[in-house]
Parts: sequence; C-alpha cells; structure tokens
Amino acid sequence: MTDGGLRGDSCDSAHHKGTKAQRTICSQCSERAIISQRYSGLHLCQDHFIQDFERRVADTVQKNNMVRDGERIVVAVSGGKDSTALLFCLSRILAKRDVELVAVTVDEGIAGYRDDTIVAAKAIAEKLGIEQHIVSFREEYGYELDEMVPGKKVAPCTYCGVFRKSALNRAAKRMGADKVATGHNQDDEAQTIMMNYLKGDIERLMRFRPWRAQKGLVPRIKPLREMPEKEIALYCMVNQVFTESRECPYANLSLRADVRDMMNCLESQFPGTKHSTVEGFEKIVAKAQGSYAQMELAPCRQCGEPCVKELCKACELLEILKNRVEFAPFSR
Ligand code: SF4
Ligand SMILES: [Zn+2]
Ligand SMILES: [Zn+2]
Repeated sequence: MTDGGLRGDSCDSAHHKGTKAQRTICSQCSERAIISQRYSGLHLCQDHFIQDFERRVADTVQKNNMVRDGERIVVAVSGGKDSTALLFCLSRILAKRDVELVAVTVDEGIAGYRDDTIVAAKAIAEKLGIEQHIVSFREEYGYELDEMVPGKKVAPCTYCGVFRKSALNRAAKRMGADKVATGHNQDDEAQTIMMNYLKGDIERLMRFRPWRAQKGLVPRIKPLREMPEKEIALYCMVNQVFTESRECPYANLSLRADVRDMMNCLESQFPGTKHSTVEGFEKIVAKAQGSYAQMELAPCRQCGEPCVKELCKACELLEILKNRVEFAPFSR
C-alpha cells in the first residue's frame, strides 16, 4: 500500500521513523485499499483510485477550459511516468470528444538516458494508436545537449529547458496544433514556485501563470498540475503502462533537485505542504492581478520565435555555443 510520500519522500526526521503500512479497506467499497490520501482522508482500492484520478484530471481540464472541441493537442511525451500518464489519461477522458491528440517526443541528446525513454514513448503512443513525432535538438539546433554542456560547466537543465520549450513550440506550430499539453504535476508546480521564492524572482514567479494567449506561442496546458507525483506513478503502475523508472544523469545538478528533496521532506512531516504551496501561490496571483503586466512578446530577430528581448533565449544560447567563449556559469 502506498501512502503519503514518494520517491525521496523519505526524510531523516525523527518524527517519521517507525511508520508502518497497514492493511486498509477502500472508503468506497469493501476492496483492499492501495492508497491512502492523507490530504483527503480517503483510502482507495485500485478501481476507485483510477476513477478518482481521472475525475480529478478531467475537472482540472474543464474548470480551466484547457481543451475545446475540434482542437489538435500536441502532448509532450518523453516516455517518463508523468507524460506517459498524461497521454494515457487524456486519451481516456477525451475519448468521446472531438479532440485529436498527437504525441511529440523531444530528443535532447542525453547519452545513456534518452534513448530508452524514447522507446517507452513510442510504445505508449503505439499502444494507444496515437501518431507520434520525434524532434531532436541536433536537427533543430545543430547540437545535442551533451555537446552543449561539456564538462557540465553550465547547468544542463538551463539549456535543456530553454531548447525543449522552443522545440516544442516550433513543432506544435508546424503541426498546426492548438495547444501543447505537458506532464507537469503538483510536485513540479510546488518546486517551481518555491525556487522562485528562494531566488526572490517575483517577476518570473508572476509570469508563471500566463493569463492571455500571445502571438506565435502555442498555448500550454498542464492537465496534471493538481496531481501528486506519487499518484501519477501509481496510476501508471495499475494501468501497466510504465515500468521502468530512470532519472536523467543531469537531474542532481540543478537547484530543483535540492528543492525537490526539501519539499518531499516537508510533505512527509506535514502532509499537504505541496498542495498548500500551490494553493497559496494561486491566492497571491489572484490578489496581484493587474500589478504585474504580462510581458509583450515580439518575434526573435534571428528565428522568429516569440520572445521578450530582440533575441530569444535559445538564439542567445546558440550564439554562446557557436562562439564557444568562456562564460560564467548560469545561475542554478
Ligand atoms: S533533468 Fe535537466 S537536463 Fe535532464 S531532462 Fe530534465 S531538464 Fe533536461
Ligand atoms: Zn473501492
Ligand atoms: Zn530566436
């Protein structure tokens, strides 16, 4: 039985030593529970867990008006558990609607990691009968991520994030997509909010919730943003759609990794911390509406992608790569 925490939800705190799993009955039937949601107080068996998961994702999609009939949605599928769950869940909750899903996998070029997840991404798209496209950093930008960050002198996640976002937007436009769906979950959201608090980057924090469409930018949706990471892993497991769990070799070099561990530890001691971090931020956003003007985007003079300055971040980094000048590491 799973309860409360997940990968790394282990915490060295004395509060938590000696917690034992218990055999518990589902709150909605007489089957054995496979999960206890400490934040809701519910114990759920496999069937009721799947129902609950899909209902909550469908609610998020509906209340935020994420999907409209007739739309073509590019789903970013890396082959990891979040995006696998996203594609699987969307294909189920949107099955009766006039919505087309297209899977797009970005191959950043990370040796010993990405090749395997691409195989997993292909497998899930094939299983669901969904068209899949692969776009690579090498084809789009001329470099693989491993070549961009030799000796890891710069934070790989900075490069990876900038180019992946740009590659997805470019691919979505080529495919005539109306939206790009990504597998960001509640843990990711809480981490991003906390990272921006820690850096004191309030402008960036407030930009985290775009409130209107911008020209040249295919709107992004995050249907799993209210789902805890551990429930996503369980959803994949019970649906037998994902078995292998791998972590990017660069993952531990980022500030996010430290924040993730900190948030997992807090969640373990004080269940509901991640949820309240995201909820609290939503309240701040609601109060601050109007205080932070949304940045106007204009086409990058080099590639035409929307950006705030003359040159988009991807082109800026490409310039650095082409010149191969020594430069200070980007902030983590
Ligand atoms: S951990 Fe960093 S480098 Fe690895 S896939 Fe994620 S963003 Fe990219
Ligand atoms: Zn049940
Ligand atoms: Zn550009």
